[in-house]
Amino acid sequence: MSVRPPDGPFVFNVAGLLTDVIGASRVMDIDVPSIDLPDELELAEPIRGLIRLSHENRGILADVELTTALAGVCSRCLRPLTTPVQVSLEEEYLPSLDLTTGRPVSLDDEPDALRLTDHHEVDLEPSIRDAISLAEPIAPLDRPDCAGLCIVCGEPLDEGTHDHPEDDIDPRLEALRAFKADDE
Ligand SMILES: [Zn+2]
Ligand SMILES: [Zn+2]
Repeated sequence: MSVRPPDGPFVFNVAGLLTDVIGASRVMDIDVPSIDLPDELELAEPIRGLIRLSHENRGILADVELTTALAGVCSRCLRPLTTPVQVSLEEEYLPSLDLTTGRPVSLDDEPDALRLTDHHEVDLEPSIRDAISLAEPIAPLDRPDCAGLCIVCGEPLDEGTHDHPEDDIDPRLEALRAFKADDE
């Protein structure tokens, strides 16, 4: 007896669909607040869209069309930003049990194929998690021409004026200068 995988928002039981005619399908309206993601990733929007599961000759075909957004910061100015993410997948899941005998099927023929669970479930969460993780931008910008941060005051260069008079420079440097002057 195998261990039952934990249920999740992207685990769907297809036992009924597998007994339906070839070509039959079910469409699910998806609105999921979040899923487990690698630590550095955070969703800024729920995962929304449609998942269609179809009974085909060899198993179940999953059509996934979802949108969400990743939260992040601009790589130049550190202002928060969101990156829209589109998850478009088409994956085939083959049975892991023979439907008439209930016996495990040999996985040797197609070792890399995605499989239904022993409970006739499609688990789309790993594929969806991978697709979202891959959408993480390497050096996101809040705008294409982001000017970055002022090296004097540390504020974004496109906010306010940065023609800093000399005595406006970091007070710690100022203190150091005064100290030196006293020393002479
Ligand atoms: Zn920026
Ligand atoms: Zn400045």
